[in-house]
Amino acid sequence: MLWTRAVSPPPVAPATPEGRAAAAYLGLAVGDALGATVEFLTPREIQHQHGTHRDIVGGGWLHLKPGQVTDDTTMSLALGKAILAAGHVDARAAADAFDAWMRAKPVDIGNTVRRNLIAYRKTGHPEAPLSEHDAGNGAAMRVLPVALATFGQPPDVVAAACRAQGHVTHHNLLSDAASDTLAAMVHDLLAGQGLDTARRHADALAAAHPLFAWQGKRRDNPSGYVVETLQAVFQALFSTHSFEACLVDVVNRGGDADTTGAIAGMLAGACYGPDAIPTRWRKAVDTEVRQRVEWQAVALLKRG
Ligand code: MG
Ligand code: MG
Repeated sequence: MLWTRAVSPPPVAPATPEGRAAAAYLGLAVGDALGATVEFLTPREIQHQHGTHRDIVGGGWLHLKPGQVTDDTTMSLALGKAILAAGHVDARAAADAFDAWMRAKPVDIGNTVRRNLIAYRKTGHPEAPLSEHDAGNGAAMRVLPVALATFGQPPDVVAAACRAQGHVTHHNLLSDAASDTLAAMVHDLLAGQGLDTARRHADALAAAHPLFAWQGKRRDNPSGYVVETLQAVFQALFSTHSFEACLVDVVNRGGDADTTGAIAGMLAGACYGPDAIPTRWRKAVDTEVRQRVEWQAVALLKRG
């Protein structure tokens, strides 16, 4: 009917892959900044200190400024810049970017990241040795630039790109499986396929690697172990119906809350789009970071 066309708003950017990509990257930064305040606290300690934690206020064990982000976001930005400069996802370019990032004295850095970047300086080999102990969440937390740059590419290309960036610091089968799953979920969500479709990848991960089974006991205090990280993220994502509710749920579980916040923010941003990110959070994130993530999201997607 003609009159409905006249009064309906025109198609707007939020529903496009570009809009969802920008929301995913901003969601990553928002979740990082929100969660960092309560990183390493227990849910009980969070309740005692903050009530339900729902504002970006800085502080935490890193003594952050309000809106400041941590390694989850800054490593992603370093990786995204390297991908854009190289024109593709390249292991050496990623290793050099992470090495430069470490030299710039980041506010925080994971043990596995530090150890394997120091090894890279010595060996010049941009792939850490296979280790069953390196199942931290450090590769998964920075997978978004790769997911954006490989949107629309065949699964083997996506997997090779995930390996190239992930193995610089985390050469581990569980880390690999987590990165593949997150990239596939981001791809479905960018395409507007919704949570039910994206959820199939989380279910497939749990079927292939039963350690990741996430339906069941509530995962509070998720550690930096990528299995616990994704369990908390999936429980929050699939039990809520908005960006805000998902992030409030996941960071109030405590533990590695900046990283669960970052990964949940990435997925919820891609799912619900930019208009779903609360204005108070969008405004609270460091302005330069916000501009960089939104610019990089679109630039990386154009590469795919
Ligand atoms: Mg962090
Ligand atoms: Mg963390």
